[in-house]
Order: sequence, then C-alpha cells, then structure tokens
Amino acid sequence: MNLPPHLSVQDGHLLIGRHDLVALAHEYGTPLYVTDEERICDNYQRYRNALASLYPKSKVLYAAKANGNVSLLRALGNLGAGADVFSSGELELALSAGMRPGDLLFNGSSKSPSDLNLAVAHGVTVSVDSLDELHQLDAAAKAAGKNARVSFRVNPALHIPTHPKIATGVASSKFGIAHEKILPAYREAIACSNVVPVGVHCHIGSQILEIEPFVKATEVMVRVAKELTGIGVALEFVDLGGGLGIPYHHDTDPRPTPEEYARAVVPVFLEGITDAGISPELWVEPGRYLVADSSVLLTRVNSVKFGHKNFANVDAGFNLLIRPTMYNSYHEVIVANKASSPAEETYSIAGPICETGDILAADRLLPAVEAGDIIAVLDTGAYGFSMASQYNCRPRSAEVLVHGEDKALMRIRETTKDVTSTMVTPPWQQQR
Ligand SMILES: *Cc1c(COP(=O)(O)O)cnc(C)c1O
Repeated sequence: MNLPPHLSVQDGHLLIGRHDLVALAHEYGTPLYVTDEERICDNYQRYRNALASLYPKSKVLYAAKANGNVSLLRALGNLGAGADVFSSGELELALSAGMRPGDLLFNGSSKSPSDLNLAVAHGVTVSVDSLDELHQLDAAAKAAGKNARVSFRVNPALHIPTHPKIATGVASSKFGIAHEKILPAYREAIACSNVVPVGVHCHIGSQILEIEPFVKATEVMVRVAKELTGIGVALEFVDLGGGLGIPYHHDTDPRPTPEEYARAVVPVFLEGITDAGISPELWVEPGRYLVADSSVLLTRVNSVKFGHKNFANVDAGFNLLIRPTMYNSYHEVIVANKASSPAEETYSIAGPICETGDILAADRLLPAVEAGDIIAVLDTGAYGFSMASQYNCRPRSAEVLVHGEDKALMRIRETTKDVTSTMVTPPWQQQR
C-alpha cells in the first residue's frame, strides 16, 4: 500500500514520523488518536504556496470543524492561517489559539442571537446565509454601536461529484442564497445602517477529487463579483470555500494536488477580477486536505470471531469515527504490530457499539489477527475526533500530538465520570 511520507514501516511496526505507533498505543492506551503536527504544517504550506505563487493576495482559512483541537489551530495560526468557524465555540477556539479576528470568517446557515453578538463584539466577518439573518445582524451591530462586516454565501447551484450528504452547493442545499437573489441581498445590505458588505463566499462541498467543479464555482463567483462591483460593493475578498478531497483509497483514488487546483482556478479568478477592475484577496477554506492524512486512530483488538464473515472486534467504533457509518467512507487499515506480515485472511473491523452499522472497515485482507493486536485506521484527522460522541456511555479517547522527536497529549482521555458529570438529579427523585 502507498503510504504518505510521514508514515513508514520499521521492524514490522507502523511509524508516524519517528514514533512507533504500537509503543504509543501501549504508553497512552487505546483507543487513541495520534496526529503528526509537521504533516499538517506541510499540507498548509503546500496549499498556501500553490495559490500565493500565482496570486500573492491569497489566504488560507483552516476549516476548524475538520479537527477542532486548539493545538492544531495554534500550529496553523503560527504559520499565518486564518480559520473558517461555524459556531461560537469554534470562534472562541480560534481566538484562544492566537488567530486574529480579521483572519476569521463566521459561517453557517443557522446562527443564534448570541452567535451574532459574539461576531459583532470581536469584529469577525460574518458570512450571512439569509436576509432574515442580515437584519438580525444589523440590529445586533446597531445595539453594540458597531458596524458588522459581511459577505453572503452564494449557492452556485452546481452538481457536485461527491457523497450527497456533503454536496453543499447544489440548488436544493440548505446553504447559501440563490445566485439570482444575490444582487438584491447586497442591495439590502448596503441599505442597512450597521452592516458593511466586504466579501462574497461559496462552498460547494467536501471530498471532491476533481478540479473541474472548483473551476465552475470560480466562474460563477467572479461573475457575481463583477456584478457586485457594478452596484458599488467594494469587495475585499472572494472566498471559494473548502478544499480538495484526499485519496482515502491509497492505491486507486485520484490525488489532485494543490498545484493543479491553483493552476486551474487562479487564471479563471484573475481573468474575472481583471475584467471587473478589482483586486480582492482570494480566500480558500480547506479542512480535510490540511488535516485528514495527519492522524491515525489506534484501536486494540478485543476478540476475533470466524463465521459467515470474520470479525476483528476492536475498542473504537462509530463513537470515535463515524465516517464509515455515516458516509460509507473507506479508510485504509493496517495491523500496526504486524505491518510487514503477509496478508492471509479477510476481516471486517467491528466496533463495540450496539449497532449493526458499527463497522470501521469491511472485508479487508490482513495478516492473521489476534486479540491484543493494534489496528491503525489511517486518514482519520478530518471529521474523526471532531464528530466523536459519548454514545453507549463511552468516554471519548485521548489525542496525542507528535512533532519531530517530541510527543505529548493534546487531549486527555475522558472517564465515565466525565460523561456523567453533567447529569443532575431532578428534585422529585432526590427523596428516594
Ligand atoms: C466544511 C466546510 C469547509 C471545509 O471543507 P473541506 O472539504 O474539509 O475542505 C469549508 N468551508 C465551509 C463553509 C464548510 O462548511
């Protein structure tokens, strides 16, 4: 199997950077997420340089929802990244990681009054998703005696080749404002007393492995940018949304590169803004591309069962990695302590959750698996821990970060007590 440069095999064990994953599993316990900080930094630099070498006014905003650990936001912030935040919590995380309010964009189709107040208080630009929200934001800014900076999210109504649950730019999606209603929306924003339109935004979907949809979206966006310029909007940025998908099937998936993306998208962008006579910043918001391949989920085999199907029953399930269950996603798996042993038998890797769908990987040809083996689930850095739950009263795992020779926890393992600590006894039950 093809491995990315930060993963390797030595003496039969799988390594991340310079660290033996089997040793990490034994030291910190399982299940365990292990993340390589340098890989994230490399992914970021590559993405940013690909765009900035063709258009210096390019900016990468990390989509914090992909992996919200503050250590990762700090690492990216130190390199100059901003963040796409989707909640008040993510906004506060990004600020606590040292990111500047001006480098954040508050996205989302359903923001509460307190979300809008927080954005106004910190001067964070809001990507507005409806006229209703626009007027609420205007009122919030007025009450605070401030002006709110806004962009609108355009729904480009494109057909996107990815899983329907993560195709966000189709006409029927809950996100964005229809292309033909965008000019009236900006006119309304201009008429608001405490709102200043400064940008325009779209996000067509996730895990896209073709470049063409991004080019089509860029064509729509520069057309909109020209129209907006025509009605007097001074655009400071055009935000093209999320990033490239990654090759979860290491040996067969296409692997579009940031350079290919930039070479296809930037000329269309440049032609469009030149035609409009403007030079806004080009923003992109990759999440998955920056972090997905940086992490492995380590899970211990509790038992092995042979029958109609063979199962390796492990200690991590969709409570810690929901992608296979929710999106039918594929993740490569490696028996970390038998990484050079020949494949012998087909197994499904089954989690401990009380649901038939709790299969992390189906029908994989692996070396003979035994209780105590450590299975590494690859490419789990995006939408892995960030979508974890406490289902079945299962505490969430620890997370370890490695950096060169160094390794440290970036999140401690929860206990059952952590899960129950927010439960309180209603008064009428207290007498019994
Ligand atoms: C999820 C999301 C992203 C990131 O998408 P990736 O596919 O992980 O790059 C970017 N922008 C918005 C608005 C999003 O919702």
